[in-house]
Amino acid sequence: MQIGSLATTTSLAPVAPRDASPVDVDVAPAAHRADTSSSVLSDDLIAARFGLDRARQSECDEGGILGQFACTVREAAARAVEAVTATMPSGPFATADAAAVAALDRANPVSISENREYGGLIYKDEAGQYWATAPAPGTGTSFDPYAIEIPTGAIKVGDYHTHGDYSLAGPDGNPQRTGDPARDDYNSDAFSASDLRGIAADARGVDEYTGYLGTPSGTYLRFDPASNDVSALEAGR
Ligand SMILES: [Zn+2]
Repeated sequence: MQIGSLATTTSLAPVAPRDASPVDVDVAPAAHRADTSSSVLSDDLIAARFGLDRARQSECDEGGILGQFACTVREAAARAVEAVTATMPSGPFATADAAAVAALDRANPVSISENREYGGLIYKDEAGQYWATAPAPGTGTSFDPYAIEIPTGAIKVGDYHTHGDYSLAGPDGNPQRTGDPARDDYNSDAFSASDLRGIAADARGVDEYTGYLGTPSGTYLRFDPASNDVSALEAGR
């Protein structure tokens, strides 16, 4: 996954919620952030960024009060970097599909793990390059792209969201995870009817607008409103 720099953001035109209608059967639970990119935060990177050299890391590993203090500092620094990284968009990419895959690679494992929807927007910058906003959490059964912002001057050309894990509708109305595609009340491996309607509505006036979905099977789907085609994008998970 690539992480780009943060740009100034501004409010965007409202977009239709995904999976928000209780009429639709597709309510898939989703997840939150857990940016898998945190694994790129190697000891070397952290040491370089925070001036913690290898000798101090050894000291840390060997224990003792100073060593433990060094460990605490290093872990706090790593968590701080991870928190900032989690808010950064993925990009730049040559295509919207590539940006969507990067975003779904970040969002889908967490979405499945937390059984909660996550999502974001795909946008094109002024240089014609594509980005995906950082995955933002929705609820167990919906994701609303309305609150997502993109940089000033960028054009919204798509959105993505995830469906969490396979679930049955619980007595309290909340999805109960089964992890079993045969026990799934939400048709989680497909776009819901409200997904398709919302994507088509948001695509008006933007020829290349595309909707992307991360499913509990690990398959990524794309919906092109211009051709009305749904196709598999790339396996993830
Ligand atoms: Zn959906």
